[in-house]
Amino acid sequence: MDCIFCKIVDGSIPSNKVYEDDSVLAFTDLSPQAPVHVLIIPKQHITSANDITSENSAVIAHIFEVAAVLARQLGIDRDGYRIVNNCGDKAGQSVKHMHFHMLGGRDFTWPPG
Ligand code: 5GP
Ligand code: ZN
Repeated sequence: MDCIFCKIVDGSIPSNKVYEDDSVLAFTDLSPQAPVHVLIIPKQHITSANDITSENSAVIAHIFEVAAVLARQLGIDRDGYRIVNNCGDKAGQSVKHMHFHMLGGRDFTWPPG
């Protein structure tokens, strides 16, 4: 499949990994939007949040366990951070392999743009 994030998972596209286990990978975003900007992805190809099912949802729970560990490791747990999933074109999802942005190290506005 022609998917950038599947290629990052299989190593054919390099990335700056900050966390990896059997089912989840986290790496720094190529175009950071905050002092801390990490992408947390399931290794299996799930196209978007629309495709979360009872069959694959365990990895989503695991991603949030990893996020809590990463927040501490990256030193953003106390000040706060934002986890974002863009689903579909209107939300600006440019890579069609579901991912969670973890952003920290600055203030964020609400509502998001
Ligand atoms: P989306 O717009 O789909 O929510 O987020 C996709 C994110 O992936 C963007 O923030 C973009 O900078 C990042 N990105 C796209 N291609 C690559 C890549 O090859 N390597 C890394 N590390 N990040 C990428
Ligand atoms: Zn993929």
